[in-house]
Amino acid sequence: MSEQNQTESILQAIHLTQKLRSSVAKVFQNMADGCSVEKGNEKHILNKFHESLLAVNNDISDLEKTGNMLVSPSPVTANSMYLSNDPAIDKTPVYQQILQAYKWSNKISDLSGLAANVLEAQNKLKRSQPITIMQAKRPKRLPPTGHAFPQTVVEQTLNRLRKLPEISDIKTTHPLGSHAVLQITLGSVLKAQVALRGLMIEWVNVRGYTEENPDDSKLELWAKSRYEVFQKVTESCTAASLYFYTPHNAEFAINLFMKWFTQYRTLFSAKCSKCCNHYLNGLPPTWRDLATYEPYHDACRQ
Ligand SMILES: [Zn+2]
Repeated sequence: MSEQNQTESILQAIHLTQKLRSSVAKVFQNMADGCSVEKGNEKHILNKFHESLLAVNNDISDLEKTGNMLVSPSPVTANSMYLSNDPAIDKTPVYQQILQAYKWSNKISDLSGLAANVLEAQNKLKRSQPITIMQAKRPKRLPPTGHAFPQTVVEQTLNRLRKLPEISDIKTTHPLGSHAVLQITLGSVLKAQVALRGLMIEWVNVRGYTEENPDDSKLELWAKSRYEVFQKVTESCTAASLYFYTPHNAEFAINLFMKWFTQYRTLFSAKCSKCCNHYLNGLPPTWRDLATYEPYHDACRQ
């Protein structure tokens, strides 16, 4: 029901209520006043009383009909309507403001619906369903692939690494199943044992060139070097393997690591880039910068 019809119905209901009050008052007034009944005129008096009661009955019916046409207050403002019971309503016109805002937003909603229909008809656009958070597609996280390379791919990658000029030799064994363990010889400086999982570097251990493996056939991974300098290099290599760790591009990661690792060819000949000395506390520069490859003593790198 539109706002205008609603107002007309309310006015009509008020009018009918006044009419009902008038007719009821007339009945009671006539009854209270009484009247003289002449002999033979009883039927006429009864008819008049019956007519006035019928008028009351008709007025009640009309009022009920009009009342049924009225719409109950909206549930949106249902509770707020009690604000109008505030005796200081003239000073706090909250309810009127809420009502006005509600009517305004209703009008906006109606008009926007009409506008959408017009646009839809013109552009033949389908109104899309609102996308909920659950429906919205989340970007899929790719599983790591670096551990899942077949042996042939691993061998091809190692063959490419063997061509690096600084690397003297890369021996490959498979003591733990399909995954390779490398022994990398870097000039006449050091030997490194590198355990791979696919192409991902799992473990690095560095010992001196002259240090024999406790068990040459298994390329002993866990025996630390007896020299502090190679223990420091092992720590640096472990840090670098974590730095270059890229589970989605393990081949790229191992190439970066090997390029960085080959800088240890100058372990005993390079000067520290900070203090410009060969030795500090009896050790050469055991750290190579991860980006610039410059040599630093462990104490000079910060
Ligand atoms: Zn230094």
